[in-house]
Amino acid sequence: MRRCPWVAEAAMVAHAWAPSLLPPRVMRTLSSTSPRPAPLCVVSPHLDDAVFSCGMLLASRPGSIVCTVFCGEPHPPQCTPWDRCAGHADSSEALRARIAEDEQALAILGAQAVRLPFLDSQYGATPTIDALARALTRMWREAGSPRLVVPLGLYHSDHVLVGDACRSLVREERLSDTLVYEDALYRTIRGVARARYEALAQEGFRFSPLEDSMAASLSPPRSANAKWRAVHAYRSQLRALRDAHPYDLAEPERYHLIDPPRQGTSPVRYELTAR
Ligand SMILES: [Zn+2]
Repeated sequence: MRRCPWVAEAAMVAHAWAPSLLPPRVMRTLSSTSPRPAPLCVVSPHLDDAVFSCGMLLASRPGSIVCTVFCGEPHPPQCTPWDRCAGHADSSEALRARIAEDEQALAILGAQAVRLPFLDSQYGATPTIDALARALTRMWREAGSPRLVVPLGLYHSDHVLVGDACRSLVREERLSDTLVYEDALYRTIRGVARARYEALAQEGFRFSPLEDSMAASLSPPRSANAKWRAVHAYRSQLRALRDAHPYDLAEPERYHLIDPPRQGTSPVRYELTAR
């Protein structure tokens, strides 16, 4: 999560997912640690978004996967305003610290990490939607095709990009049980979420309220408590945010079911029941 997208000088970007080339701390494969399919796979643009937006859901479904997209480390290291605000000397130090924070947070929630090596937009060289969609599809299949939980993709260019790539996956695989979550903090910007729902409805995507059984699992105090502790593991990011929006991180999480466009049907009228 970042409040402002900075674009740095050109940097290397991973345009394809190549696990064999990745050091272990960037990419952890699931096959050796996960004999059973994960209940959910939450796609997270940055290291913190899944927990900020879906921490209670993750706490209620232990063993779920959090797949974070922008975990790549630029070479040579870069110094950006955001990393400095978070207390890091350069991008290498920032990535090390942020991955350690993420490990701590996911351990609290009983979730397992998959980290893709794409570069955060603050380091430049943003990947294409197709490259992200291919990497996400491969990750999802290798994880046993668990139920997906994907960002609506609000405001920040990295979030919009990941949202678009996830919807490409939903469309190509014709998935009908995917959950879409409203990106924490950015969802508080007036009109942003509604505009996104309306644009996607024009493309033929259909949204419906979360099923009762899933909704009921979101509210137990134990899940809320675990989320709150996990959120505070991201110390450097909270420092950079200067605790500007902590109230949103304690607000109810918001989800909808998303259905891909159906062939031969016209765009659907946007009518949304919030949950
Ligand atoms: Zn983010």
